[in-house]
This record gives sequence, structure tokens and C-alpha cells, in this order.
Amino acid sequence: MSLTPSWNFGSVGFGHIALPPNAPNLSSHKSSSDCGASGADEESTAGTEDVGRVSVFDAAKAAAPDPILSMRDQYNADPAERKLNLAVGVYRTAEGKPLVLKCVQEAETKLLAEQEAGRAFKEYLPPDGHSKFCDLSLKLLLGDAIDGMLADGRVAAAQSISGTGGLHLAARMLKLLMPDATVHLPAPTWPIHPDIFEAVGLSVAHYPYYDAETGGLDLDGMLAYLRALPHGSVVLMHACAHNPSGVDPTAVQWAQIAAAVRERWLVPMVDAAYQGLATGDLDEDGAGARALAAVPGVEMITVQSYSKNMGLYAERAGVVALLCADRDVASRVQQQLSRTIRLTHSSPPQHGAAICATILGEPERLQAWKREVKGMAERLLEMRAALAASLAKCECPPPTTSKRGSWAHVTEQRGMFTYTGLTPAQVKALRETHHVYMPNDGRISMAGLTTATCGMLATAIKDVLHAEAKHAFAEPATELPAAKRARSAA
Ligand code: PMP
Repeated sequence: MSLTPSWNFGSVGFGHIALPPNAPNLSSHKSSSDCGASGADEESTAGTEDVGRVSVFDAAKAAAPDPILSMRDQYNADPAERKLNLAVGVYRTAEGKPLVLKCVQEAETKLLAEQEAGRAFKEYLPPDGHSKFCDLSLKLLLGDAIDGMLADGRVAAAQSISGTGGLHLAARMLKLLMPDATVHLPAPTWPIHPDIFEAVGLSVAHYPYYDAETGGLDLDGMLAYLRALPHGSVVLMHACAHNPSGVDPTAVQWAQIAAAVRERWLVPMVDAAYQGLATGDLDEDGAGARALAAVPGVEMITVQSYSKNMGLYAERAGVVALLCADRDVASRVQQQLSRTIRLTHSSPPQHGAAICATILGEPERLQAWKREVKGMAERLLEMRAALAASLAKCECPPPTTSKRGSWAHVTEQRGMFTYTGLTPAQVKALRETHHVYMPNDGRISMAGLTTATCGMLATAIKDVLHAEAKHAFAEPATELPAAKRARSAA
């Protein structure tokens, strides 16, 4: 057994690494405490070679801070008493508290009783996970259409580590099966999307989606882009409650998108992270995915998460599925999916999946969950109305980016987020002057608001917009625009 690597680490500041008591020939080496930062250079012991390196892991570059999580960290570190975190997309009650759904608590009680009765255990799930959960989950998204597909055996599916893990598995499968694929993403999209696909070596591109002029969907731009794609291109679409824009296609627009998918034999990848939270109706929120799945001969990928709509964030419950042309392809795809999982996390966590399967699989529990989802969606809508009213009450000017000159988008957008239209400079001013936190793109989580804090947010926005306008007015008229931009970015 060679301990050379451990010695290398130990000599360069990894003194906390415990070496086994029988580790050979270590007494002649200096520990990290007796050799300073340059200790490695001083080492010269028979039988070991001075390779003169600082760390074998030295290639690690500092990673760019996560655009959303870094805001949460800054919020936590802010000592101000009155502060507001609108950065992270998690549901909060009207009192601003995290929520464990009642139907989830009841499902957990049942699961615990089964365990106590010796009918449920904690042994490994197979790599593909809880298969009943996968089938029920697909039914929730795709409706009755999934029954025929499952009967035809043309579905390859697996439980995933929630939405992010599902997207990662989808990315791995694409890299394996279509290695030169470009994944086309909406502009804008969840900022983690491009990184997930690029991390496995796929290319990404962006198609027109949000129309800043109207604050709505750029349908013409999107359709023109889709119709110009090579056959078989992979196009990611948000099932509903588009993150960050809150802009979803209508049923008529989904039909047009589905027609373009058929025309170019595109491969839609539907990311369903908020089913139920856009309209309050799980079926209505599945309409886009169903329109795509109904395209004759379509092959597509679906990724589902129960983090938001069932409040199972930390349980990591999700499903990834590849709807294939036929049974033969699906069977081989399923084998590769299982293999990929076996080599990554081997077997998924059971608890969240068991909760989901209990709720989705029993009609009464399903109805109870649907009522709770509706309640959550209604609260998000109430916060939209309350924020719009607060903005109007304090006579807040419209965002400088709004071509319509209004805040109407606050009540028009759907789901967890409002894409405020605030600029990065305004977002920074809100954070530094008013202790209001959101990512640089101006996206705010509506669930982070309460009736009490809507007023605070509205007056803070008004203050920032006024201050900016006053500042712009006070600037010398001769200043060149480029110099002005550079100064405001500093
Ligand atoms: N997709 C989108 C569009 C999301 O917004 C999120 C969560 N913010 C996810 C996927 C992944 O969520 P999770 O991994 O928590 O299920």
C-alpha cells in the first residue's frame, strides 16, 4: 500500500487528515504544523520524490457565486432589522412561514404506521426508483394520454433527485444518445439551465420567449426560431409558471408551438417545476405538456419536480422520462438510464417518492392535495393584487424598462415569480438602501411577500426609481452616454 498521496496532502497544509496509526515511515516527514507554507519545498526524504506542487487539486478555479443562493447568503448576513428576502423560490404562508402541506403530513403518518407494522422498510430502491410514483407522476403531467404510451411500452422513466437531478439525467442521456445536440432554451430562463447542459458537454442556444416591449410572450419570434431549427433539435420549454418571467403560452399558443414541433420533428424537453402553481389547477397547468405529447410520433423528455407544489424541497422528489418511438427503443433507453443512475447516485431517496405515491395514488388524498395547491396559487395571486395596489397607492412610477409604462405585468404574470423589469442598478440600490434582496434580473418571489411587506416593497421601489431619476436629471447634459454608463456601473 502506498501512502505517498496522503503524505503529499499532509505536508502542504492538510494536517487535519488523520493517518492510520500503522502508517509506515511517516515520522521522518514534517507535519503541516512544522513546515510552513513552503514546507513542501524543504522536504527531501529517501524514497519519496519532491514534486514541488502545492496541491493536486490546484486546478480548481473559484466558482462564480450562484445568482440566487448568493442573495440568500447576503440577506442572512445583513444585520438590518427590517429586511426582505424575495430571492429564493420557496413558498411561504400569509404569515411568512415555511409550510409543510397537511396532505404530506397525513401521508407521512400513514408511511410511519406501515413501517411500524413491518410492511415498509428502508432498503435500497432500484436505480430507477419508485416505479409506481413514476407512472402516477407522468399521469399527473400528461393526463390519460400516458396510459396508452405505458401500455405500448414506449416510456423510459426514472425517479430523479427532484427537478435539478432530473435535468442532469436528461442532459446525461442526451450526451449519450445525441452527443452533438444543442439544447435550445427560452430567453430568459432559469439561470441554472444552461450550466446543467454545458456541464455535460452539450451546447446551448436561446430562442426568443419574453417580449420586453409587451411584457408578454414573443410568440412570433419563438415560432420563427423553432421553424428554422434542424429536424430533431432539442427544445426546452417550461410547462407552466415560466421562471423567471411568469409568462406562459395560452392554450391556442401551445397548439401553434405543437404544430411547429411537428413541422420540424423537434424534441421537446418539458421542465415541470411548478405544476399547479400557475393557475391553481394541476390539469390546466399540464395543458402545454399534453399538447406536445399529443403530436403524432413525437419523442420528448419530461422532467418533474415536487419541490414547490408539494413543498417537498429537501426530500428531492422528481421524475425524468423519455417518451420514445417504440417499445424496443424505450427498453434500451431504460437500460441506459438505469446504468447512468447506478453510476451516479445508484439508488434514489425513498421518503419523498413514497409521500408522492401515497398522495397521487389515492383519490381522496389527491383531491386534498389539489385543494392545497389551489390555496397556494391563490395566495400568490393575492400577493400580485396586493403589490399592484401598493404600487398604485404610493404612486410609484412604472419601471424604466417598461415600454407600456405600467406595472400591469405584476398581475398579468403567473406562478411564483414576478419579473419586475427593475435593472441591475436598481436591484443593487434596493439591496443597499432598503435591504430588499432579489437576483440581478429583478425577479421577485411572490411567496416571499405578505400583505404587511407589499407596502414596504412598493415604497422602496418608488424611492429607488425617484432617486435614479433625480440623479439622471442632475447630470451635466454634455456627459457622453458611455461615460455615464461606466460611472453608474462602478
Ligand atoms: N426547473 C425550474 C424552472 C426551476 O425553477 C427549478 C427550481 N427553482 C428547478 C427546475 C429545480 O428544482 P428542484 O431541483 O428543487 O426540484
